[in-house]
Amino acid sequence: MPELPEVEVVRLGLAPHLLGRKIVAITHSGKKLRSPFPRAAIARWGIGATVVAVARRAKYLLLSLDNGGLIVVHLGMSGRLCVTNPGEPLRSHDHVRLRLDAGLELRFNDARRFGLFDLLPPGEAGNPKWLRDLGPEPLGPEFTAAFLHAKAQGKKTPIKNLLMDNRVVVGIGNIYASESLFAARVLPTKPAGTLSLAACQRIVANSRQVLGQAIAAGGTTISDFANASGEAGYFQLQLMVYDRAGQPCRVCGATIRKIVLGGRSTFFCPRCQR
Ligand SMILES: [Zn+2]
Repeated sequence: MPELPEVEVVRLGLAPHLLGRKIVAITHSGKKLRSPFPRAAIARWGIGATVVAVARRAKYLLLSLDNGGLIVVHLGMSGRLCVTNPGEPLRSHDHVRLRLDAGLELRFNDARRFGLFDLLPPGEAGNPKWLRDLGPEPLGPEFTAAFLHAKAQGKKTPIKNLLMDNRVVVGIGNIYASESLFAARVLPTKPAGTLSLAACQRIVANSRQVLGQAIAAGGTTISDFANASGEAGYFQLQLMVYDRAGQPCRVCGATIRKIVLGGRSTFFCPRCQR
């Protein structure tokens, strides 16, 4: 499943192709995605509009249109966006095609169809329904040690689950939660309310660093992530604990352990993390 760095890598790849381009046509496979295809909004606000910004909030990609409309895309479990030549043969699971005036086409491919492709009219674009109740961005100024410490107060929830809660902070998914906690030397099972401010400081600083490194490496390709040009990411080569159960810790040599926490595979070093 793409996490924040993978979505940011897609955004960085798409922006140069989409900015300033006019949308000529949008077509849909007819298959249902996470929400019904916004046919009427696309006819009214999509066709003929120019893309003026390509942004990201949490794991949502946001294409602002010059008429005030907003295209919202979420990759779900298996979604991919790529920019291609319109003459390129369709692949199976190509569900949305967005033809641009430069003779390029943006295609949304999603085998499992948990992804989202929506267009909000100007009246809804200022407060998108998909983005309500989201916590701050992990790379933004609001995510500080004091903020995390306050959110953790009185909670028995394991810190890993708290980090993965989008109402607390967005976009830290399963891979990067394990990696950030390893880098911060904090056990994923540690009850959030028992963390010191100093430990919260290490978690915040290391989350930012791990996410930043992952973006720089082009994201992590575990199963089938690819960027806007169809290329794999390389952060998996730098993973310290994720998917490394039974292998030696790259820092101390102890055996990396795997447990299930909140229903998700969780990896840690029993010696480096406390
Ligand atoms: Zn270790």
